[in-house]
Amino acid sequence: MFDQLIGNERARAVLRRMLEQRRVPGALIFAGEEGVGKKLFALELAKALNCRTPRGVEACDECSACVRIARLANASDEATGLITWGEHQDVGLVRPEKRFITVDQARAVERETNFRPYEGRARVIIIEEADRMNAQAGNALLKTLEEAPPSAHLILLTTRTASLLPTIRSRCQLIRFAPLTAGEIEAYLVKHKQRAGTEARLAAQLAQGRLGRALSLNLDQYREQRDAMLTVLEALAARSDRVQLLRAAEDLSDAKRKDVYEPSLDALELLIHDAWRLALDPKAEIVNDDIRERLTRLSGGVTNRRFTAWLASIEELRAQLAVNVNRRIATDALLLSMAAIPA
Ligand SMILES: [Zn+2]
Repeated sequence: MFDQLIGNERARAVLRRMLEQRRVPGALIFAGEEGVGKKLFALELAKALNCRTPRGVEACDECSACVRIARLANASDEATGLITWGEHQDVGLVRPEKRFITVDQARAVERETNFRPYEGRARVIIIEEADRMNAQAGNALLKTLEEAPPSAHLILLTTRTASLLPTIRSRCQLIRFAPLTAGEIEAYLVKHKQRAGTEARLAAQLAQGRLGRALSLNLDQYREQRDAMLTVLEALAARSDRVQLLRAAEDLSDAKRKDVYEPSLDALELLIHDAWRLALDPKAEIVNDDIRERLTRLSGGVTNRRFTAWLASIEELRAQLAVNVNRRIATDALLLSMAAIPA
């Protein structure tokens, strides 16, 4: 049932209406960022179309068809074949082979959609990363979109609608998926016992609208990087001596910890944003709510101008790193320039 999914009230309402009116289009595009539930909604629609004991127009989630279709959500990435079939023979998944969806895959989709449903009422093929289709594959798919029987449904998932061939776009109904709110993600984590309390709160805030990220985040690691950056920020705010800052720069750019460099910069940026918000409004919603007091304390004497300049310095460093400057030197320069910004 759609109520088991989170967020995206509008998409949910649209899909329900299509089912109620028995007018689910032969071709749909689900567009939206990574991790906002496009695939789960597509599987939910496939379930509703094939459920043996539907509740109203929605899937029961209990019959053998529903249970088997739902398992396709976990089909492994190593799955081979042009189309990945789960345990239900009418619902299949297409993903790019290496980098692209190939013409062979598009032709397989055409073949398969021409068959009558084996056991359910509809053939549903979900195409992941549909924008990774070259022109040849796109043209083969176009034929399917034009000629498939009414019992076939193609659902194209994409994060980049603009990259789809215009001819394909114009033959599909587009449904947009919005990023989830932090509140929606937090509620999901708690309800499904994935995380609790401040852990759930922090993960939801850091997830930037993506449930997948909220689930996979390593919070201990984040906190470790954040604590190091918090010390730096406190030193900057208190205008401590340069020696301390240079030591922090050394830690940050330590070659042995190359993989934590970018995440540390991200954490520093989040801390600055939070501190700035608190400087403007002590009750503001912030990402790092669990260290609100420390952030409030350090934000006290910092002017808007310094906050802005700090963020600009970080952006500048990122730009430099993109063209491959020496990380150690750039990091020293970053912290010294941040320290030198006048009040
Ligand atoms: Zn069912």
